Amino acid sequence: MADHCCEAMTNRVNVCCDQHDDPFACPDALVDFSAKFQEYGLIIHDGGTSSITISFCPWCGRRLPASQRDRWFGELERRGIDPWEDEVPAEFQDGRWLASLRQD
Ligand SMILES: [Zn+2]
Ligand SMILES: [Zn+2]
Repeated sequence: MADHCCEAMTNRVNVCCDQHDDPFACPDALVDFSAKFQEYGLIIHDGGTSSITISFCPWCGRRLPASQRDRWFGELERRGIDPWEDEVPAEFQDGRWLASLRQD
């Protein structure tokens, strides 16, 4: 499980609900954590999958990790993968691609 800044955030990110598999469909889910981009977002419950990216934790006030979205696209490009056209490798679907870069 990913480490988050505080217990409140961890609990919010990992809200587990037996009625909704999709956090965007669950009224109890407030925060969506995108492991592949390392982005935290406040879920907008408008029936879609919109969220507002946040830079600070609403509970402990700590600065959240910088978004890795640009690097994500950059790394795929370096490998000659077009995320819109090609199949995105499994490690790029979550945070594993970051772990593999750190080992380099
Ligand atoms: Zn926090
Ligand atoms: Zn629910």
